[in-house]
Amino acid sequence: MPGHPSAAASRLCLLITCEHGGNRVPAAYAALFREQADLLTSHRGYDPGALTLARELARSFHAPLIYATVSRLVVDLNRSLGHPRLYSEVTRPLPRRERQAILARHYLPYRRKVERWVEECIAAGQSVLHIASHSFTPVLDGEVRRADVGLLYDPGRAGEKQLCLRWQNALRMRAPGLTVRRNYPYTGRSDGLTAWLRRRFPAERYLGIELEVNQRLVFGPAGPWRALRLALRQSLADALSTVAGPQAVESCMRATKA
Ligand SMILES: [Zn+2]
Repeated sequence: MPGHPSAAASRLCLLITCEHGGNRVPAAYAALFREQADLLTSHRGYDPGALTLARELARSFHAPLIYATVSRLVVDLNRSLGHPRLYSEVTRPLPRRERQAILARHYLPYRRKVERWVEECIAAGQSVLHIASHSFTPVLDGEVRRADVGLLYDPGRAGEKQLCLRWQNALRMRAPGLTVRRNYPYTGRSDGLTAWLRRRFPAERYLGIELEVNQRLVFGPAGPWRALRLALRQSLADALSTVAGPQAVESCMRATKA
């Protein structure tokens, strides 16, 4: 329908983000983490593999990448202000003034940067497909996670649901051996950067998807991990060409170069 402001009709801008890209500790907090080497290198410190995946997705689709390498144990960029797990057990006991300084230095600039990018695309008449790259630990609290890839979205948002169904199907075609589940191992509506952006932008303009890969593959042999990353890129291209049409994907690439 001409002029209808749906994601399919308007140009689709792809944005890749990675909130848990590293386990770096800023010098100001190094003393706090002196005894926490094991925690920092564990899945609680960062999302192994997520930044590699994010970089390749961004390169492959000529999309911008916004990422952070400060450990989520300093402040979790994928939690909202006021969330009980915004800070970890290491930083939560800090005096309020110091926690505010962490927010000002490491949290707010990141969240604002992502929000502003989405805002500007929408103001320019475009729609945004935001893919946040994450990874999950194969076993959590004794429970084995039964998936290689998870696609997280809000089931109440038709555009997100449709794209994830198509992405899941395309991934099954490209890599039949993989177990790909939707809204697993977490629900897409849980607190996070995408959930927060959904509250700011309408469903027909903002599509927020969290891509979750099993760290078993990240830490496994290089071949299957590389094959998974390739399959994710190819299947996303397949899914985008059916949702948005080749022309819309093309314009998305041009738009993101500006
Ligand atoms: Zn994560």
